[in-house]
Amino acid sequence: MKPVEEHVAECLAAVRPLPPVELDLLDALDCVLAEDVVSPVDLPRFDNSSMDGYAVRIPDVAAATAAHPAVLTVSIDLPAGVDAVPVLAAATVARIMTGAPVPEGTDAVVPVEWTDGGVDVVTVLQPPAPGQYVRRAGEDVRAGERVLTRGTRLSPRHVALLAAVGRSRALVHPRPRVVVLSTGSELLPPGAPLQFGRIHDANGYGLTAAALELGAHARHGGIVPDDEAAVIAALQAALVDTDIVITSGGVSAGAYDTVKEVLRRLGTVLFEKVAMQPGMPQGFGTLGDRGTPIFTLPGNPVSSMVSFEVFVRPVLRKLAGETTLHRHVLPAVAAVPWTSPRGKRQFVRAVIERRSDGVSVVTPVGGQGSHLVADLAEATCLAVVPEQVTEVTVGMALNCMLLDRARR
Ligand code: AMP
Ligand code: MG
Repeated sequence: MKPVEEHVAECLAAVRPLPPVELDLLDALDCVLAEDVVSPVDLPRFDNSSMDGYAVRIPDVAAATAAHPAVLTVSIDLPAGVDAVPVLAAATVARIMTGAPVPEGTDAVVPVEWTDGGVDVVTVLQPPAPGQYVRRAGEDVRAGERVLTRGTRLSPRHVALLAAVGRSRALVHPRPRVVVLSTGSELLPPGAPLQFGRIHDANGYGLTAAALELGAHARHGGIVPDDEAAVIAALQAALVDTDIVITSGGVSAGAYDTVKEVLRRLGTVLFEKVAMQPGMPQGFGTLGDRGTPIFTLPGNPVSSMVSFEVFVRPVLRKLAGETTLHRHVLPAVAAVPWTSPRGKRQFVRAVIERRSDGVSVVTPVGGQGSHLVADLAEATCLAVVPEQVTEVTVGMALNCMLLDRARR
């Protein structure tokens, strides 16, 4: 049996980050930058007021107190967005709003709260310190300065910075286009009435959702019966404008495992037994003229979701240009004992909790059968039991892959 690590490494070695494209800022959200971004401008772009108030020359107001205020003529009015700032006449002040450029020669801004708010003449009760309430050009970013580095995954804060320096587009690795196919003649879409012997397609939705959550352009490509012609047609359709195909079902040792039959003749997919539980039957390779990567995941819903976490997630992240490929892992100690198969890495659906003493403990959820979707939904992590361990004992330290979105 093939070690998990080896299969992960082979899948990763078969793909490269998608070639960069220029996207509009909002489309680039969550994508990985493929360029260093240099600001063409100073931020702030010009000296401006951080308060609504009056731009002054300090000597004109230095002696102002509540008992002996300075009374000055307001000779200019400066709202934010003014296109020119006249020179301020001697012994006068400029009424100024937050974000408006401060006139040349003024030293500070008196907040409106320290005055009577006058429009033509203003009474100033208190002097500002030199430079107070003036935001200086370039104090945040200097023109020519690098503000973002290649490899950064664009968050809303990064998008705001790009916009602030005037960029409407950014060079990023695009979101991988993913098509998910569910194979099995027993499958019907959720919403369709079930006849005896049929089940609703869980994997197609779970896998598409997992890819969407990762930021991929994922779509459910439909349910495909266990029929060779249908599988071939569905695979051909799935390859159009797609960076990666994910199928589930039809790859074990059954008589109607059509995906396996078909892909033995087309493409380069290798069907292997990987030393893990669940998720042992794995297939990965390429298909079609462009050598599109394809994962053929096992049909049991828990197996397909665990396979996604272990193999598909890192590949999607690599395609997207990311360098952190795997789920966040947290160490925790086992709260109860359980057994694990010799020679296989066990991924146990479990709940992780932080005890009051700060130690994280991990407890498996109800059943571990690979058909138990409700138990999978309850889990917040996959506790990873190493291959050589057959008995997990209370207090044993295990690495846990956190399944929460915040830990992507
Ligand atoms: P297979 O790998 O096709 O032999 O399927 C293994 C098990 O997973 C069978 O019980 C299937 O009915 C079930 N299964 C396969 N595909 C799906 C799916 N998309 N949703 C839910 N169960 C599935
Ligand atoms: Mg099947």
